Amino acid sequence: MASVQNRVHVYFQAELNDHLPPEQRYAPLEKSFLVPVSVKDLIESFGVPHTEVERILVNNEVVGFDYLVRNDDRIAVYPASQSAGTSTLRSPVQRPPRFVLDVHLGKLAAHLRMLGFDVFYRNCLGDAELANISAKEKRVLLTRDRGLLKHSQVVHGYWLRETDSWQQTAEVLRRFGLMSDIRPFTRCMACNGILQKAAKEQVRRFLPPRVAEQHDDFRQCPECRRVYWKGTHHQRMEHWISELRVSLESTVDQSSEAQKQQSCSQEQVSAEL
Ligand SMILES: [Zn+2]
Repeated sequence: MASVQNRVHVYFQAELNDHLPPEQRYAPLEKSFLVPVSVKDLIESFGVPHTEVERILVNNEVVGFDYLVRNDDRIAVYPASQSAGTSTLRSPVQRPPRFVLDVHLGKLAAHLRMLGFDVFYRNCLGDAELANISAKEKRVLLTRDRGLLKHSQVVHGYWLRETDSWQQTAEVLRRFGLMSDIRPFTRCMACNGILQKAAKEQVRRFLPPRVAEQHDDFRQCPECRRVYWKGTHHQRMEHWISELRVSLESTVDQSSEAQKQQSCSQEQVSAEL
């Protein structure tokens, strides 16, 4: 029996075009296929991970990922920024979101933990392990590897556009609307433990003499015993957060208690992250 070749028309919206080669961006695209294919597989065949997609319309009707595309379908694919905060494809990300980071994102992991976010990070995990942790613990998978986001297990994920770790931090805060969830000085940058207040006498043996003289507010990680204080990075980080708040002013929740908190930074007893 002769195979019937089907053809569909696909329109990727807004930042989904970041995943396409330059000549295909912001243009109506066509795809031919012989066998039945789900709209999820069709979208990923263009290089767009399913985690980047929040809404799909086929001939102006909302469909799910398992919709089997038909000849002459007109498929419009929307990212988060075009979906008004609601997804027709998956449950919402929990608030505040918890993250799992790809192995090359150690600096981003430290920055996000410094801002108080729950970040699972190891520098020795394989793709299958990362996908599994993301699914099992309902963590948002952050990566620069589109292939990793195509794992079927991954429900919530995000492909980082930026390469600089501070710009990536701002990108994550912006993408997930996290400015009101920032809780500086609450989480260990090294191991993700939740910091506890510590009296100076309890931690004095870990402190350089100058720090013991000049500071009184200390926190300690119960997991790895690292000690933190509002040190030399304080002003720099405070300035960074306030500048970011201004740039994201329109999305900041002014009623949040987090807004009232004073920003601070941490300094490690041992190596800087
Ligand atoms: Zn720790």
